[in-house]
Amino acid sequence: MICAYCGKNGKKTSEHIISRGVLELFPECNYTYNNNLKKVYQSEPVVNDVCSDCNNKKLTYIDAYATEFVKEYFMKDYEPNCNVLVNYDYNLLSKMLIKYAFNDSRALKKNISYFDEEVKSFLLNKENTLIPKNISIYGGIAVNTSAYPSFMFGNKKLLWICNPVFLENSLIRYYDTETGQVIPRENLENWDIKGLQFSYLFKFNSGQFIIMFWTDKEMQQKYEKVISLMYPYTLIEPNKTNVILQRCTHAYNFHIPEIIDVSWGISMADATNSLVRTDINPIFIQKKLNEEWEKYEEVVRNKYFASKEERKHKKKHRHKGS
Ligand SMILES: [Zn+2]
Repeated sequence: MICAYCGKNGKKTSEHIISRGVLELFPECNYTYNNNLKKVYQSEPVVNDVCSDCNNKKLTYIDAYATEFVKEYFMKDYEPNCNVLVNYDYNLLSKMLIKYAFNDSRALKKNISYFDEEVKSFLLNKENTLIPKNISIYGGIAVNTSAYPSFMFGNKKLLWICNPVFLENSLIRYYDTETGQVIPRENLENWDIKGLQFSYLFKFNSGQFIIMFWTDKEMQQKYEKVISLMYPYTLIEPNKTNVILQRCTHAYNFHIPEIIDVSWGISMADATNSLVRTDINPIFIQKKLNEEWEKYEEVVRNKYFASKEERKHKKKHRHKGS
């Protein structure tokens, strides 16, 4: 087998599309639903074209960073008006997202010509900090402000989507403050962003990231700032080390993060929440239900970690005995 990263002939191993360490942070999400292939499977999502040297040695520094990064900021849930200060290493963050995008593109058997020798060398070499392509990275915080608990849609804590939809205008066109009626926009147009080759959206529980791959520097510079004004995602800048992330979802797209609504779409959607005029607040009930569900998740997690410890212990014992 020819390794997808180093190009050498080697024994094939299973490379996780999303780092195993990140998957292990959420053992309660034990089924994988591949939206693109329309498949549900219980095993972890992998791609089998990476040699052991790349998978178990050369690329591990990226996985280590990814696990720490997600664990530090996105395991917990945030309030709707949050300002989350996130420290980052741009070089490692970009490597993490490029690697996931490359892995997923191969798993989907897409054209991977974009991920050329320069990109692969960038990923394989820890010391290589010169990003070979024109990319933009945006981040936001996913907060459930809908009436539906998160688990009702299948516990989508980890999600990755190629080419999410960038709406040209808000999902909600109008709401009637007298009747509470919400009128969605008909004929919603997607913004076909010039110079954007493709993009990926990654959801790590409460953290949502978009990486955009541009045809050239000119297009990147032309649209990068416009996009951060138009959408509720904050541009993560290469020459900085921290960013304040804010909520990027509303009641209507929290469960379908691949639909990226414009910034003013958030205030439109939030306003409809305040139109609920019964004594029973559906968001309050959602929060209560979610809390109950989280107790169950805690049990699943603890069980997983306990059995992992046990396996480790047994292994240690076996080594001693031999
Ligand atoms: Zn290799």
